[in-house]
Amino acid sequence: MRRDFVANVSHEIRTPLTVLGGFVETLQTLPLSEEERERYLALMAQQAERMQTLVSDLLTLSRLEGSPPPSVSEWMSMPALMRQLEQEGRALSAVLNPSSDRLHQLEFASLLEGQIAGAPNELLSAMSNLVSNAIRYTPTGGEVHVRTLVLPDGRAEFSVSDTGPGIAPEHIPRLTERFYRVDRSRSRGTGGTGLGLAIVKHVSQRHGAEFKIESTPGKGSIFTIVFPANRLRLERASSC
Ligand code: ADP
Repeated sequence: MRRDFVANVSHEIRTPLTVLGGFVETLQTLPLSEEERERYLALMAQQAERMQTLVSDLLTLSRLEGSPPPSVSEWMSMPALMRQLEQEGRALSAVLNPSSDRLHQLEFASLLEGQIAGAPNELLSAMSNLVSNAIRYTPTGGEVHVRTLVLPDGRAEFSVSDTGPGIAPEHIPRLTERFYRVDRSRSRGTGGTGLGLAIVKHVSQRHGAEFKIESTPGKGSIFTIVFPANRLRLERASSC
């Protein structure tokens, strides 16, 4: 497993490094117009950013593996978390569709007025990975619904559903493996590292939560995290 992992990381880093190296050489050897220089520098910045995201996701994963589970004494407000996710989600949709006036139809429904016990940075990281995936894989004009609610049995549910391409059943059990992707080019093209769902799975486990993936090819996907009732503290609730 370790050998596979090192091979995967090397492969993931080699591509942007090769591209960067190639551009550096071009800049060093070819006389370029100011406009061409600008274009090459922008592409180089993009590759450097890709490596940064990869290293940052790898560090997040190794921190998750190496530290004790988050305590139940730290509480995170769910409505506040939802506001942050909404801000980020709308910004991402706009960045991915710079020339389009038809963005995604995003809906954020906070039906859980309360707090979840856990590590705020981990919860934000897991939830924003799911929102970002839904937006990145759903074509413009499609819908993404993000929802929190209290289940009848007292557990707290966070779900992200989209009307994107969906995922064939044979891929679903493998999605939380590091670097597993259904469509490599689409993942890379939208800034994916292949580590997002591995992070979500780890964070869920550490919080005693259940992580579920349901999907229908051609229709869309639903990703759900269900937190145990003992990690939920309600201010005001509407259960369903
Ligand atoms: P990535 O960085 O490639 O998005 P993730 O671990 O977050 O990596 O996701 C793993 C793979 O699962 C993705 O490469 C993609 O193929 C698939 N996937 C994740 N979310 C969605 C979604 N909302 N719709 C369709 N496919 C998805």
